[in-house]
Amino acid sequence: MRKTVGIPKALLYYNFYPMWKVFFEELGAEVVTSRNTCKKIIDDGVKSCVGETCLPVKTYVGHVIDLKEKGVDYIFIPRVISVERKRYLCAKFLGLPDMVKSLVPDLPEIIDMKIDLYRSDNSMQKEVLRIGKKFINDEVKIYNAYFKSLETQNKFESIMKKGLSSKEAINYLEGKNIKVQNSGDLKIALLAHSYDIMDDYICMGIIDRLRKMGAKVTTTSMMDSFKIERGAKKLQKDLFWTYGREIIGAGKYFLEEKEVDGVITVSAFGCGPDSLTDDLLERDYKRNGGIPYMSITIDEHTGEAGITTRLEAFIDLLRWRKGEIIV
Ligand code: SF4
Repeated sequence: MRKTVGIPKALLYYNFYPMWKVFFEELGAEVVTSRNTCKKIIDDGVKSCVGETCLPVKTYVGHVIDLKEKGVDYIFIPRVISVERKRYLCAKFLGLPDMVKSLVPDLPEIIDMKIDLYRSDNSMQKEVLRIGKKFINDEVKIYNAYFKSLETQNKFESIMKKGLSSKEAINYLEGKNIKVQNSGDLKIALLAHSYDIMDDYICMGIIDRLRKMGAKVTTTSMMDSFKIERGAKKLQKDLFWTYGREIIGAGKYFLEEKEVDGVITVSAFGCGPDSLTDDLLERDYKRNGGIPYMSITIDEHTGEAGITTRLEAFIDLLRWRKGEIIV
């Protein structure tokens, strides 16, 4: 019988799930994901974590508990240190496997693959072999699984550049029927960590809400990387967090190039990196004017009515600026 590997539908699931799935399937495992986020998952995560923990990590812990209850053989909780040269991720990702093990008792075996692309050495290949050998004892097959997963990641990223959210791109790669309506007359940049805006439960389906209100939504994963680079170059001092730098780079690019009618940032209450990047962006937008900017903070108490009201007010403001609403 095939071994089952559980992948929590939270945090970097929205950035890397297709490649992780291909890797484990090529090794002969069956991949099982946790359910979509729901009240029980959030409650389980909140009960297990200390209050100051950010909502995405609490949610992640809830998803791990969901997988434990499903009875999978392994749970994949990578230790993601760096996903590109010379930059890091937030410290929470570095200690994620240890944090989860200390918070949730009686877990199945954790696959704590170390992902560290900070230096261009062969440590990633060694790690791929270490994990692959849990499933098969054939180095060629393990490397082939890895290369196939990298190809999948390239495909996934290029699909998102066509305007699909990562959730839609995952569905597309899985052969599901998707209908994307991302062609509204208002252009809005929605800048956030993927997990803050892709999880419909914690962010109340913000992308679909904006689209229904007539917005064409652009996220950082839909942008060409040269645009983000151009914006990030305007920082007086480079940021070493990959995703924080993407958010601020995109924000600075839109402020300069005026390609959108408005910018919305979404961050989680208790997020250290976002408290810095959002503040820097907010000051820039206030100082330079020109494009309306709104910042939304989410936590486990965020209500649907609050988000909807703020989005509607923001859309009205953009339409008023275009002369479509007269007051
Ligand atoms: S970047 Fe912020 S939201 Fe994401 S894991 Fe770190 S603290 Fe939490």
